[in-house]
Amino acid sequence: MPELPEVETVARLLAPRAIGRTILGVEVHWERTLGGSSARDFKRAVIGAKIVALHRRAKYLIFDLRRDERPAGHLVGHLRMSGRMHIERAGFEPGIHARLALALDDGTIFHFIDVRKFGRISFEADLQRVFRRLGDEPLEKSFTAERLHALLLSRKRRLKPLLLDQSVVAGLGNIYVDESLHRARLHPLSNSGSVDLSAARRLHAAVQKILRAAIDGEGSSFDTFYRTPEGKPGRFQARFRVYGREGKPCGRCKSPIVKFTVGQRGTHVCPTCQPYRATLKPRRRSARAKARRAR
Ligand SMILES: [Zn+2]
Repeated sequence: MPELPEVETVARLLAPRAIGRTILGVEVHWERTLGGSSARDFKRAVIGAKIVALHRRAKYLIFDLRRDERPAGHLVGHLRMSGRMHIERAGFEPGIHARLALALDDGTIFHFIDVRKFGRISFEADLQRVFRRLGDEPLEKSFTAERLHALLLSRKRRLKPLLLDQSVVAGLGNIYVDESLHRARLHPLSNSGSVDLSAARRLHAAVQKILRAAIDGEGSSFDTFYRTPEGKPGRFQARFRVYGREGKPCGRCKSPIVKFTVGQRGTHVCPTCQPYRATLKPRRRSARAKARRAR
């Protein structure tokens, strides 16, 4: 499933072809792609609108629209499992999994292709409605090691489910969480409330380093689903240290990588580099517990 680096790659590669284009026509092949609105309402909202910006928030792609030089809402895309976006010259054959096509004013066509049909491209007048529950962007300046430490302490949950929770840190998914925890030498089941500041610093550095490297590699393609808007696979999968490497030696210590399940997600760890401790440091007893013991 595309995560932050894949979505960022799609945004960067599509932007030069999308920005400045006016949408002249819409073809809807699978109405559910529109996220609840009817094809008629969608067409009314977007035909004649000009795309003036394309950016990413969490795993969403956002196309800002203007009409008569005034803001006119947004197209918000989510690739989910298998969505792909292309902007191609007429004659490109999108195949049987084409869900939506937008004809643009330079003769190119925006295609949304989605084998599994979970992907969405909706029209949103107000982004707040979509994004109000999203957590921190992990590559923003405001996301510091101290900020991450505070988030970990305030939640007191197991590390992996917490990092996958888009309302805490937005954009991370299964691959980059496993890779980050390995690099930070933290076990996915450790309690976030017991992570000390130095471990939080390691995790923060790991998350940022891996996301940046994955963006440089145009994301990761380990199955047939994710491809860039140029139809090419990403390259970061060649640098995975744990993800999909069950039984293979850890690059740091040579122990075989172990796979198990956390909240229905396949999870990969090096049992030597990432030892499991229920808590990483002894928790101070609460005043109430002390009083109870004193009685
Ligand atoms: Zn190891």
